[in-house]
Amino acid sequence: MSSAPPESTNSRYLPPSIAGDFTELTEQQQQLLAIASDLGRNKFAPRAAQVDRDAVFPFDNYADMHAAGLLRICVPQQYGGWGADFATYVMTAAEIGRYCGATALTLNMHVSSTMWTGFIADDLDMTTEQRTNHEAHRAMHYRRIVDQGKIYAQPFSEGGAASAGKAPFDTLARKVDGGYIVNGHKIFASLAGVADYYGILCTLDKPGATQLDALYLAIDRDAPGVTVSGDWDPLGMRGTVSRNLHFENVFVPEAERLMPEGLYAQATQRWPHMFATLSPTYMGIAQAAYDFTVAYLRAEVPGTSAVKRRMYPTKQIAVAEMKVKLEQTRAMFLQNARAARVDPSKEVRLALLATHYTIMENANEICQIAVRTCGGQSMLKSLPLERLYRDSRCGSLMLPWTAELCIDRLGRECLYEAGERDEPDAL
Ligand SMILES: Cc1cc2nc3c(=O)[nH]c(=O)nc-3n(C[C@H](O)[C@H](O)[C@H](O)COP(=O)(O)OP(=O)(O)OC[C@H]3O[C@@H](n4cnc5c(N)ncnc54)[C@H](O)[C@@H]3O)c2cc1C
Repeated sequence: MSSAPPESTNSRYLPPSIAGDFTELTEQQQQLLAIASDLGRNKFAPRAAQVDRDAVFPFDNYADMHAAGLLRICVPQQYGGWGADFATYVMTAAEIGRYCGATALTLNMHVSSTMWTGFIADDLDMTTEQRTNHEAHRAMHYRRIVDQGKIYAQPFSEGGAASAGKAPFDTLARKVDGGYIVNGHKIFASLAGVADYYGILCTLDKPGATQLDALYLAIDRDAPGVTVSGDWDPLGMRGTVSRNLHFENVFVPEAERLMPEGLYAQATQRWPHMFATLSPTYMGIAQAAYDFTVAYLRAEVPGTSAVKRRMYPTKQIAVAEMKVKLEQTRAMFLQNARAARVDPSKEVRLALLATHYTIMENANEICQIAVRTCGGQSMLKSLPLERLYRDSRCGSLMLPWTAELCIDRLGRECLYEAGERDEPDAL
């Protein structure tokens, strides 16, 4: 008679919460995670393969997110939103990233528009007049989102040093009666031709303009002078539809200014977590690759053979390796999410860069181990792993904080205090 324990016939692997221990979550976090999980599992995951194959924007997912209130997650409560804070948003975004990376990544562009104008702007210094103007402007933008489900994109990349945060944007806004005339272009603009408004970063056109003169304006997709160009057939994140945008003498009414003049520069200095909203998508992808691998080795992935592979020591070591990386990543993700605030200490700033880097790089490494461990099946388009693997590669390429630039900044900021310089001959 065998001494092996009887095998359970009905237990299955139940993927855990993206946010770890549920008891530490607020009621709102639990509520939003439940909504994201339900939509992701039941709606986004079944659509993800087609969105990826056809490189098309996931319109149906956005209709579902509008209906469920997710498009207004960071709209302040007094304007009809959830008023979610940074931690709550990034956990929700990571949950969505488990099921459709392109949906989570494009949602980031939209939600950033409401986060920057919302709780981030609330923390910034403004004159009374600026504050009054800002309230009037954002009320209009939030009404569009809350009442009509309008979508905002966030194109700032131009292919030069500005997107890396090292020079003024080349796209220029000239002040005219009632608004601005905008000329310039953006590359890799997620939601190009899809979003209702493009929340662009540009420079106020004046002699001697610097990065301090950056302006954040919303441009109507249908405004005269706005065009979209270029093919979109990339390696991964195919549903983001990140094509080129061109602006030729586009008139932008003053009310479309998303932040008062000069406030974007203040935000970048005082609220650095504003650039860490891309990585939650990749936290979700890392979790999804792990979940897939465990389910696969337990022979629980629908549509694959019922042969278990979990008993092989090599597979167990690989899963343990993935779990170590995943938990390291999650711990940093959650700690960083909860540390977000205006004027963070130097230690928090450094940890932020280290976290962003870790999430982006580990997501891809976890996917690589998953592919090696699950073997030939992982190559099949009928299963999600090959998509996760391709999508995961795109994370560390995204400016302003690519993996390279995180390392550049970290290395420098670890070794220099504010204002310190070396003599040129010591470089
Ligand atoms: C799927 C996807 C979606 C995207 N969506 C958006 C979007 O919605 N909005 C948006 O604005 N952008 C978006 N981007 C663009 C992205 O943020 C980058 O701007 C783009 O990938 C950079 O293109 P590049 O590699 O040609 O840039 P390059 O400027 O050639 O940079 C290449 C690398 O060189 C390094 N580098 C660049 N400049 C400097 C510098 N001054 N100093 C030191 N190192 C530097 C960086 O590590 C960078 O990764 C998206 C990109 C992808 C892949």
